[in-house]
Amino acid sequence: MTKTRIAILGGGLSGIVTAFYLSAPEQRRKYDITIYQLGWRLGGKCATGRNPDHGERVQEHGLHVFMGAYQNAFHMVQEAYGEAQNLPFETWDKAFTQQTTLTLMDRRNGEYEPWPFGVPVMPGTPGITKAPDIWGRIAEVLEWIESEMLGTHGMTFSGHPDLSSLPWWRRMIVRLLLGIEHLVAEAASVLIRDALGLVQTLVEDPAKHGAHHHNLLADAAAGLRSWIQRRARPLLEKDADLRHFWIFVDLGLSSLIGSLRDGLLFDPEANLERVNHLDYRDWLRSHGADEITLDSSLIRSLYDLIFAYPQGDWTKPGEVEAGTMVVSLMNTATYQGAIIWKFNSATGDAIVQPIYEVLKQRGVKVEFFHRVDRLVPSADGKQIESVELGRQVELLGGDYDPLRQLKSGQYVWPDRPRFEQIKDGDKLKASGADLESHWTEWEDALPPLTLTAGDDYDALVLAIPPAAHPVICRDLIAQKQEWARFTQTIRSTATQNLQTWMDKDETELGWTLPTLVGAFDKVNLNTWCDISEVLATEEWPKDAGICTEQIMCGPLPCKDSIPPSTDHEYPKRQLKQVEELAERFIADQGERFWSKGFGPGAPQGGVIRSTYVRANIDPSERYTLTVRNSTRHRMTASGSTYSNLYLTGDWIQNGQNLGSFEASTISGMLASHAISKFPTDIRGVDAEALTQAEYPAKPSQARGAFVKHPGMATFPGRITLDDTTMWAFLLDADYDLMAGYCRRMFDEPSGGEVRVRPMSSKMMMTIVDIGTGRFVDEPEMGWSPERELTFWIPAVRVEARGGKEVATHFDMVMPYLVLDNPVAIASGREIFGYAKQKGWITLPDDEGNSARDLNVDLFATKSFGKTSEQARHRLLTLGHQGEKESAALSGISGFGDAVRSLYHHIGKSGDGWHNSLKLDFEILGDALHRRVPQLFLKQFRDVHDGDRACYQAITEAIGEVTRFDAFPRLTTFDMTLEHLDSSPVAKDFGIAPQQRLHGVRLEYDMTILPGKVLWQA
Ligand SMILES: Cc1cc2nc3c(=O)[nH]c(=O)nc-3n(C[C@H](O)[C@H](O)[C@H](O)COP(=O)(O)OP(=O)(O)OC[C@H]3O[C@@H](n4cnc5c(N)ncnc54)[C@H](O)[C@@H]3O)c2cc1C
Repeated sequence: MTKTRIAILGGGLSGIVTAFYLSAPEQRRKYDITIYQLGWRLGGKCATGRNPDHGERVQEHGLHVFMGAYQNAFHMVQEAYGEAQNLPFETWDKAFTQQTTLTLMDRRNGEYEPWPFGVPVMPGTPGITKAPDIWGRIAEVLEWIESEMLGTHGMTFSGHPDLSSLPWWRRMIVRLLLGIEHLVAEAASVLIRDALGLVQTLVEDPAKHGAHHHNLLADAAAGLRSWIQRRARPLLEKDADLRHFWIFVDLGLSSLIGSLRDGLLFDPEANLERVNHLDYRDWLRSHGADEITLDSSLIRSLYDLIFAYPQGDWTKPGEVEAGTMVVSLMNTATYQGAIIWKFNSATGDAIVQPIYEVLKQRGVKVEFFHRVDRLVPSADGKQIESVELGRQVELLGGDYDPLRQLKSGQYVWPDRPRFEQIKDGDKLKASGADLESHWTEWEDALPPLTLTAGDDYDALVLAIPPAAHPVICRDLIAQKQEWARFTQTIRSTATQNLQTWMDKDETELGWTLPTLVGAFDKVNLNTWCDISEVLATEEWPKDAGICTEQIMCGPLPCKDSIPPSTDHEYPKRQLKQVEELAERFIADQGERFWSKGFGPGAPQGGVIRSTYVRANIDPSERYTLTVRNSTRHRMTASGSTYSNLYLTGDWIQNGQNLGSFEASTISGMLASHAISKFPTDIRGVDAEALTQAEYPAKPSQARGAFVKHPGMATFPGRITLDDTTMWAFLLDADYDLMAGYCRRMFDEPSGGEVRVRPMSSKMMMTIVDIGTGRFVDEPEMGWSPERELTFWIPAVRVEARGGKEVATHFDMVMPYLVLDNPVAIASGREIFGYAKQKGWITLPDDEGNSARDLNVDLFATKSFGKTSEQARHRLLTLGHQGEKESAALSGISGFGDAVRSLYHHIGKSGDGWHNSLKLDFEILGDALHRRVPQLFLKQFRDVHDGDRACYQAITEAIGEVTRFDAFPRLTTFDMTLEHLDSSPVAKDFGIAPQQRLHGVRLEYDMTILPGKVLWQA
């Protein structure tokens, strides 16, 4: 049988995993596979080398670990260990040490405060047992909170116990429980149990979850968050345990609330793009996370873990796509065993070598010292016609054997070529040339090699990352826009590494806390870890006195563009920079970690016996970033647009889209699947979808970018409304008329998917005077004042349960909205579907308004008729009758108080809450937390048939109140509501057109947040 010839360009993890699955027994030797790799070793960003001049020490690119959620990476390593000969460890599990404790460097008032904590070990073994789904994990976490906060521990510790022996979170919970009243604890317990009950009903079949379930859960989580926040916030400054507890809880709950509200739990694939334009911190902020949390070492450590600092600038807050990060954290939460698994040998020796052994056994060829210089596309852009390669050295004979055996017998990757197998190896050695460097001065020993489509390969797999594409894929970039755009949007950063070998152990050196330490703020090496496990595989002479080994890494400042290869001095300059930074780090931070090694009176000499620094600056060594809005430009394994070119690497669409071993493994599996349909099962991702040419597949009605009209005809999204004064009134109205309106607007168009009911027979009428309205995202557009008259129906969304309608969400519905500002009329309509009308509003303090009346005129038709002119007509007159102090109002100090008092007022007065609805206080959820949800029917008329909508959706906007004051005075007005045929407000809702009203005056600032679509036709 003729085999299909596959050339894999690049032997990093993705490239070798592709080969691993293409050469698997299931493929029945269908493929003839060759990997082309520059230099002397495989592994790319995780390649390592043993240095024989320094005790066979392990030299890494940086700290490398597996996370306990790396289902595919673990599985692949387990398979490799099952098949390979010459293994570094007998079994795969011996290659790892599970890390269950961490220390974060918390910064308070300019000082670092170590924050040690343990992460629970979860049941199961990654790669072997099925990972729990995220719902199962949420339920487990809620159960944990319930039992720890409100269950047995609360009772056990309810005396005055000695807390010193307890872990921080237990101390904190006990303190919380001792400090709060029984009744309040009960309130939280109810909230948690409700949420738990809901989650437990959901776990069974996530596919059947409805958005309303998730909103309910989000409301429960928001209630719980604010309950804890109210109690914990005032104590945080003084109590570090409490602050840490709050940060965990706030991060967990805010992530949950945001994921539920933005549909990331419901259908992440479909909703990622809605949030990927935001940075992760900004997304958390938009869902109410506390600034203390956002500025905490916990959040910083997440950015540090993925080097999320464009241009390596660790002094900035960093940037990562919100949606991608959230999905990744959800995956991480499903870890099994420990959350982090360290390697017990060099990364290359622990995982790359076993894979290499398997590839050799299966007949995969690896051409070392082959540098890919250029991919040449055919003129018609259909395929890659040829590949040009530089041949760096001439071998003395046969195949290159890249591994060296240690005295222990272990096969390892050396830190330099095996010169003895190379013709003129001595010359190469003497030159000190780095064959992995883009800037090397070494001249190729052999003439270039050209691989030609059809003669030498049937398919190519490009496993070299985008930072190298401007050189090797220059013709593809010139030929196709997709490649140009792709290369520009996938960014990367250089990184740096420092390893130290010490003659004392950590405790002797003065560090007694967990030895994986992260989140140094604004420090070049922001993560350090003790990796002394690997010492057992190093071969230091006894008198070297080495006891411990540490590794520290972080981003390295760099430009986005790569200097030309002729700048031969560039690596030296960068290495010098890293050496200086490392020295400074040890000088500034050494004493912090190892007070007995570096502090005053510390031994002179000794302590650090060996150091290794590395600048990871080569195009393909740079860490792949996931900056905002980049995932959607990633190509899939089969999306290269050239029929014989497949792609793999942590930079393709792989469902994870962050630089990691798991993303690289999945990418390798996807490339194999794209070529061969094997492997069929890639855990946690949809292999079929991700190997389509386009992902996500374009919806039939593709959504393009919004096209701005010139001038101020169209407007950006979010707005802020500052210095706003509001007069608010309650009106008696006809419940059935309001219910009919809600049905027409929401129930009927959505076919009952969104059902809305007025809460009571009260309507609200407000008149506002906005001092400054401006667009948040385009502040340079300036500002404008605005006046509005609004008739509101306080309403609830309902769903049927047990034959009854049960309210699930509170929302304000606005049947009439009159305002005087054309910008606000257009922008609100365009985005949310506000039905705004043009009017003129006179306020009590207006010049010349000596009567202090409130009047509203409307552009309207007074009486319908062919000869009627649409013009300015009076709609509302509020004749000022006087003011008096109000005891009820003087008790209102915040927006939540105002909402609460309104709730009780409506509940008590008239016929109260509509009796078909079971409403309790918690339904106000959002509003109690200063977020006023507003519901709209957004629609556009069809071009052909003006009676039909060509677009129809039910949208929700949230107005977040950022400042609030109430005046403790009631103002009395006599109201006249005129009848206008085009706007018959009184008739529409059964409002008595003439009545005496009492109004309150409020002041506030508000931001209209990005909204969401609850239903769309
Ligand atoms: C410092 C650092 C620490 C990290 N820590 C972790 C961690 O703890 N956990 C984790 O999950 N992930 C970690 N990562 C990420 C992880 O290492 C990468 O996601 C993964 O190794 C990328 O594999 P890849 O195959 O996609 O790319 P690469 O490893 O970049 O592979 C590309 C390959 O192509 C070769 N190549 C480049 N140019 C050419 C050419 N012209 N011709 C021929 N060959 C060429 C390279 O030498 C390399 O072998 C870390 C990354 C870095 C940089």
